[in-house]
Amino acid sequence: MIIMIRSGSDPAQVCALKEWLLKGKVTLNSVNIWGTELLKLEGDLEQIDFSLVKKFDCVAMITKTGDPYKFASRHNYPEDTVINAGGVMIGGGRFTAIAGPCSVEAEDQICNIAHSVKKSGASILRGGAFKPRTSPYAFQGLKSRGIELLIEAKKETGMPIVSEIVDISALPFFDNVDIIQVGARNMQNFELLKELGQIRKPILLKRGPANTIEEFLMSAEYILSGGNRDVILCERGVRTFETMTRNTLDIAAIPLLKKLTHLPVFADPSHASGISDIVPDLALACVAAGADGIMVEVHNDPVNAFSDGAQSITPECFDELMRKVKAMCGIVGKKPE
Ligand code: PEP
Ligand code: MN
Repeated sequence: MIIMIRSGSDPAQVCALKEWLLKGKVTLNSVNIWGTELLKLEGDLEQIDFSLVKKFDCVAMITKTGDPYKFASRHNYPEDTVINAGGVMIGGGRFTAIAGPCSVEAEDQICNIAHSVKKSGASILRGGAFKPRTSPYAFQGLKSRGIELLIEAKKETGMPIVSEIVDISALPFFDNVDIIQVGARNMQNFELLKELGQIRKPILLKRGPANTIEEFLMSAEYILSGGNRDVILCERGVRTFETMTRNTLDIAAIPLLKKLTHLPVFADPSHASGISDIVPDLALACVAAGADGIMVEVHNDPVNAFSDGAQSITPECFDELMRKVKAMCGIVGKKPE
């Protein structure tokens, strides 16, 4: 962090600023360049409220150096993070497809879908059991029974599983779940993130519908700084003025995140669009943009799905998509898992 001192400032005020800054755990070096004093600050900058620094009249400009997300930063950790999710390796040049229904509905439903998507090349099965629904009248998920059925499908197919947690009190149900998902609505549930920082299990963190990329990385930081270094980021669309799609897929977030962080970056074209017909094209765009994986909602009977049927593609459509995904992986130099 560099603070530029306004020329002609009252020396007493500059002194007061320095004393105020040094109350924190920081070191301060002053350099004079062409008559302008620059204060270079290093150390625990997170503790300093820089909106208060601006209140000193002698401050002309503040320039941030370094990332506020220390553990997530690629600058600090240049190597790709590779995550072992139930035996499936994620990141580090691999491409991983997660597929499955929005909600676990019944044993035959989840097992049938699991077999189909596995055959097409998905390596991880998804299925919501604790559902965060916009309407309290909508299907809320099978809860712990849903997790049991998902584990049944895991036993049948050998696929690792991912499911969403909405409340930390449900954590004991996730013992045999390989990846815990934090949904978009909970991206800034900091108490939940802190708890998940204490466990040793991969976390799939989805971007909030109205959150910036920096806020997204700061949420990942909550988990990483707690000691859990296995975080997968997932871009799932953000809210914009557009109403024809459920959300707007922020495709630029994918290559940008790949530059900013070493964490694996996934994309979810299903929630990003809400329209099954355009999911395959968006999925391919995500691969082309450099995603380390995709998460796609697949249902054997979308019209009768308990949730998100409109954006769910059929197993046949997923099969066709995976052929193209593999071809696209060849173009961008990713190794399909
Ligand atoms: C989901 O993946 O089922 C889900 C609810 O997604 P999001 O949190 O992105 O809305
Ligand atoms: Mn869904």
